[in-house]
Amino acid sequence: MYLTDYHTHTQISPDSSAPLEHMAQAAVDAGVQELCITDHLDLLDLHGAPRLTYDWAGSLRQFQQTAPRFVHKLQLRLGLEFGVPHTNPALAEQVLSLPQLDFVIGSIHNQSRARGGGDFYCLDYSDHGVCYEALDDYFSSMAQLAQTDYYDVLGHIIYPLRYMPEGIVLDDYWARMEHIFRIAADRGKGVEINTYRGRTIDQWRPVLELYRACGGEIITVGSDAHAPGDVGAGLREACALAADLGFRYFATYTGRRPEFHKW
Ligand SMILES: [Zn+2]
Ligand SMILES: [Zn+2]
Repeated sequence: MYLTDYHTHTQISPDSSAPLEHMAQAAVDAGVQELCITDHLDLLDLHGAPRLTYDWAGSLRQFQQTAPRFVHKLQLRLGLEFGVPHTNPALAEQVLSLPQLDFVIGSIHNQSRARGGGDFYCLDYSDHGVCYEALDDYFSSMAQLAQTDYYDVLGHIIYPLRYMPEGIVLDDYWARMEHIFRIAADRGKGVEINTYRGRTIDQWRPVLELYRACGGEIITVGSDAHAPGDVGAGLREACALAADLGFRYFATYTGRRPEFHKW
């Protein structure tokens, strides 16, 4: 099977210190044949302050210096994980006009501005009420993002669950996810299976079933690795799950155009 990791970070991201060369070598060692780098560009920072700059020149330089060393060993692609792009359409348009961009994950890491804009990662989730208020806000923002063209796939749609305690259920959110998936499918956009470094596989089953029922066909698979040791984690299991659910293809992207591969 052609194994691809379509969600990975390098030292260009604020929360990673890994050079691309190390991530690429780890991909080769893990049997990954195509690696897409998706460094963070969140338009709000951890605390909700607007972020207006991105080291695209640094990202491109790192990519151009590293890619030639992996010719015939690894297909490298250059993407972005674009956080809350719908909050600044002018900047989003500018970023997405970069000609070398292969792929864009649209993610919601931050609460809405009405709730201060801080990262969901920073909330105290010991109270269940806080969890459900956060999920309300999260899926509202995801619906807004879904209606734009600022993404190729929706990133880790169950993201806040990473930080929440056992027992938080999505019962009240399936209808909202259905709405989001129908918008994405109608717009020719996809959804990623994000294994969260190999920790999240089973949680995706009902999500992917719903996505498929909504007419969704485009999926990518990524580990969300921020360090070499996590590259490729959980990819084979995620692919097996998607195949089991009836998805016949997964996608890779070049110049933001999808190509489809059989499992
Ligand atoms: Zn993310
Ligand atoms: Zn990520």
